[in-house]
Amino acid sequence: MFSEKEIQKIRNQFPILKEKIYSNPLVYVDNAATTQKPLQVIQASQNYYSTMNSNVHRGLHYLSHKATLYVENVRKKIQKFIHAKHSYEIIFTKGTTESINLVASSMDSFIKKGDEIIISCIEHHSNIVPWQILCKKKGAILKIISIYENGFLKLKNFEFLISERTKIISISHISNVLGIINPVKNFIEKAHEYGALVLIDGAQVPSNLDLDVQDLNVDFYVFSAHKMYGPTGIGMLYGKEKILEKLDPYQFGGEMIKNVSFNKTTYSDLPFKFEAGTPNIEGIVVWGAAIDFVNEIGVSNIESYKKKLLMYAVKRLSSIDGIQLYGYEEGRNIDKKSSIISFNLDKLHYFDVGSILDRLGIAVRTGHLCAQPLMNFFKVTGMIRVSFSVYNTLKEVDYLFKCILKAKKILLKN
Ligand SMILES: *Cc1c(COP(=O)(O)O)cnc(C)c1O
Repeated sequence: MFSEKEIQKIRNQFPILKEKIYSNPLVYVDNAATTQKPLQVIQASQNYYSTMNSNVHRGLHYLSHKATLYVENVRKKIQKFIHAKHSYEIIFTKGTTESINLVASSMDSFIKKGDEIIISCIEHHSNIVPWQILCKKKGAILKIISIYENGFLKLKNFEFLISERTKIISISHISNVLGIINPVKNFIEKAHEYGALVLIDGAQVPSNLDLDVQDLNVDFYVFSAHKMYGPTGIGMLYGKEKILEKLDPYQFGGEMIKNVSFNKTTYSDLPFKFEAGTPNIEGIVVWGAAIDFVNEIGVSNIESYKKKLLMYAVKRLSSIDGIQLYGYEEGRNIDKKSSIISFNLDKLHYFDVGSILDRLGIAVRTGHLCAQPLMNFFKVTGMIRVSFSVYNTLKEVDYLFKCILKAKKILLKN
């Protein structure tokens, strides 16, 4: 566990944390939306443009070779980070959303009328809409795994829904609303018994959980760089070699072809078959620096420190009169949680509370959190979400607690 001094050292690596918001110190607890970036990541961006900017894979010249080498090195870094078997099973995309769209679109020719696709009630919109569209297009049926009041997926319900007609199931590893860590391995095993493929939306996972895609035996795994201290606009799709090989390309153009004539085009091998056009080279290279940052601190150290913040925050927040914490059973399921807390305050609108917190320097997320079906389940239109990162402190939790009380006082008076 980190001492206060060590956390201060980590904080010093994040220049943005010194910003003042309406003359208050910034308390950034919107990390489930995106994390801030440490100096080594910011500097990697400058370094890329200063020393290697060039297009990849095409040029024979020195800079192109250098950029290509860096890009392929990051691919290997990710392979190691998630324990994939081969680096060519890592496809670079814009992020989680594009990765899911890639799979849904590339599976098109595998889905027939009457086939079924299973997702769950807690999914982010980006893990709902692509499947909905695919089903509509192909006359397939979308089935939804329901949840318990505490937010946990009903495995029994899943066992009821799955059948030989199920082609793919796509669920999140960690809920971006409730912070629940789903026992995805159980779902993967069950799905495979029926020959269905499994995609896991791991957007909230990197630097929260140690990840081993081979141990999970998952078919597809997706996440973005920007929620793990990296840049926006870059992410990845992991897919098992055998399955990626069978899928159709997602987009067509340069880089993804072997031979082009006006009669026929043959496609490149993995991973390039899925990487049409000039990729986000800078994003990939800079992501490498973010992975180094995470590895230097250690995923398990980050995880246990964030758990400490979570435990403390749940304890403090749950003592507030009229607060409703979603997906918490008086702290009983806290060991199955990552550091996300979503809540509402009795008689108060989340938007009003969020606005007051903002004025006091606290960045929280308010609204439907990209999960309207889950909001409907809890019969609300929105929530306030607090989500921690390695640079947050217990003192910030105290300040947050104080400011929520202040917001309550101000709003209930009106
Ligand atoms: C953030 C998030 C997404 C979307 O990620 P993008 O980076 O916006 O593509 C999808 N699913 C979950 C669970 C998320 O937290």
